[in-house]
Amino acid sequence: DGPVVTIGEILVEIMATTLGDGFLEPQSLIGPFPSGAPAIFIDQVGKLGAPAAIVSAVGDDDFGTLNLDRLRKDGVDVSAVAVLPGAATGSAFVRYRADGSRAFVFNMRDSAAGKIAATAEAKAVLAGAAHLHVMGSGLPIPAVHGMIFATIPDLKARGGTVSFDPNVRRETLRDAEGRAAFDRVLAVTDLFLPSGEELAMFAEGAGEEDAVAHLLAAGVREIVLKRGAAGASHFDRDGRTDMPGFAVEEIDPTGAGDSFGATFLVARRAGLPVERALRYANAAGARTVTIKGPMEGTSTFAELDAFIAGAIVRSP
Ligand code: ADP
Repeated sequence: DGPVVTIGEILVEIMATTLGDGFLEPQSLIGPFPSGAPAIFIDQVGKLGAPAAIVSAVGDDDFGTLNLDRLRKDGVDVSAVAVLPGAATGSAFVRYRADGSRAFVFNMRDSAAGKIAATAEAKAVLAGAAHLHVMGSGLPIPAVHGMIFATIPDLKARGGTVSFDPNVRRETLRDAEGRAAFDRVLAVTDLFLPSGEELAMFAEGAGEEDAVAHLLAAGVREIVLKRGAAGASHFDRDGRTDMPGFAVEEIDPTGAGDSFGATFLVARRAGLPVERALRYANAAGARTVTIKGPMEGTSTFAELDAFIAGAIVRSP
């Protein structure tokens, strides 16, 4: 079987060690940590032992090498990650406020991630994919957009599947072109992985049940709604399954949705029933939020089994 493949940004995250409102005075920092939503997702796929590959670009700097080393170590094929001479790997500085919200400084403009291109290596990896995971954040990048829509017809023709994490801001959906790109992906999506907030954005005022019914009627086979600490809900033509989350202390929420989605996908591809896949996915999300650093909390099946054995389920 071919790999699960995703396309998108790789960067590093550098975190302030104290709570506060931004970076207006010198901070004590921890990092760099490997990051980027598509990178976290594919790292989790690799850790679970499933074939995994990412199409991306990094600079020829330590931040790029740090990411490539981590992804390789966790079993991800990085042959389609271009190392661009003279380009810089992007970075995000993050500081948590006392209320749990985050202040960011992004150094992404002109970074390597914006220069992802349809190289020969990228085309080769995409031609062999068994599954494509689309991140909404990549759709506005023309080369990424182009590769996604160039890949999907052949992928579907050979029996491959598509998952879609919208990862979107309201402004993007208000823009006609942005909305059209999202609708075009949704029309070919097998597994849709929105947060509750994102589903509401897509539904444009329709209630959750109506929005779900509409998507299922339009051909989406499975929808998994991510509900943060409350867990997740799964919908398909057979009905609805709610799965409460695990009770943990949240230290760093970055990456939870990505490791959740990757785990649900791999569990289902391995033939596990919905309930077990949801439980594993909730465990992956919960482990991620207890560990500092976006990719530091990705998990093997052995780690998830150990976590579930010792964990407490939050009462609904
Ligand atoms: P996203 O990161 O995409 O916004 P969520 O915040 O809903 O998505 O997190 C994804 C999943 O991670 C949740 O469905 C849940 O399984 C798990 N999760 C997230 N936050 C917590 C938390 N505080 N406690 C336990 N599990 C959590």
